[in-house]
Amino acid sequence: MTIPKYECTDCMKNFLKELPKCEHHVHLEGTLEPNLLFKLAERNNIILPSTFPTTVEECNIRYNNFGDLQDFLDHYYIGMSVLITEQDFYDLAMAYFQKACEDGCLHSEVFFDPQGHLERNIDLETVVAGFDKACKDANKKFGTTNKLIMCLLRHLPNSDGLKVLRDSKKYYQNGTIHGLGLDSSEKPFPPQLFEDCYNLIRTEFPNVGLTAHAGEEGDYTYVENSLNLLNVTRIDHGINSKQSSELMEKLYQNKTMLTICPLSNVKLQCVKDVAELPIPLFFDKGIPFSINSDDPAYFGGYILDNYIVVHERFGFSVEQWKTISLNGINGSWCDESRKQELRDKVDEVCNKYLELV
Ligand SMILES: [Zn+2]
Repeated sequence: MTIPKYECTDCMKNFLKELPKCEHHVHLEGTLEPNLLFKLAERNNIILPSTFPTTVEECNIRYNNFGDLQDFLDHYYIGMSVLITEQDFYDLAMAYFQKACEDGCLHSEVFFDPQGHLERNIDLETVVAGFDKACKDANKKFGTTNKLIMCLLRHLPNSDGLKVLRDSKKYYQNGTIHGLGLDSSEKPFPPQLFEDCYNLIRTEFPNVGLTAHAGEEGDYTYVENSLNLLNVTRIDHGINSKQSSELMEKLYQNKTMLTICPLSNVKLQCVKDVAELPIPLFFDKGIPFSINSDDPAYFGGYILDNYIVVHERFGFSVEQWKTISLNGINGSWCDESRKQELRDKVDEVCNKYLELV
């Protein structure tokens, strides 16, 4: 256990909690807490494989010891198997939105993996309807704003991605889905395999937000190729961008936001400790980034936990946190009036805490 370099006092914790946060990198299927997982398995008469933990405690122990990205994904896909009805998808998303709101996260852009459900014969309509209803109800109940980003599973063929995108056009058309992403095992599946998929959405729906997981376990060329070939305007993870100064300059010039997931990077052994992440480097180079939870049910922390651990390692000032928060707002895909509302709240909270911490 690494000893934090900086103390996160109670006052600082309160500040980080109140600071308006935006989350851009969270997989709804990765918010499936063990207690909901077992509840849904029972509700849907699903028998989990004998290799899967049988209690919440066993889950938490196993989740604390993932060998790598693939080891985690194996558990993630088993977890997904308990999601069957529209109500299940709704319950899953609502549990996340409630937790995010408690953490002071006022705007979330959330990923979901339709292919992981379609291959289990769950209709796309069931998945989208449950998630969409939760987005709307969370807005009414918590006052938060939320957007859905559909992700393609990169271990499946490009043709499979094209099919799901064609079937999803009506959701892009009516604004139910706001973005396209690319996730799952990164390394043997470079971004160039999915050029057709991104072109299909970009040409028909030029206002849809494009992003991709890149530079987590893959090297900086995965980031470069996502930018050049998929035309993404945001990079999920992107920590290996530090390997190329040319790429770093490009990220700075284009103000491309990286969605960093500190606890996830430690849990999946990308780094041994959050202190090793190039967060201060990105800060110094003026590359915008946001701090996110990725798959919080599996990685032991939601958005606020990630903010706290970053503070404990890097000891940012209120002014620096203000910059991080504003960069997250500016890099979001909500409209300008919502962004202004959030920026005003940031000013309010930072002014309140400037003298206190
Ligand atoms: Zn992710």
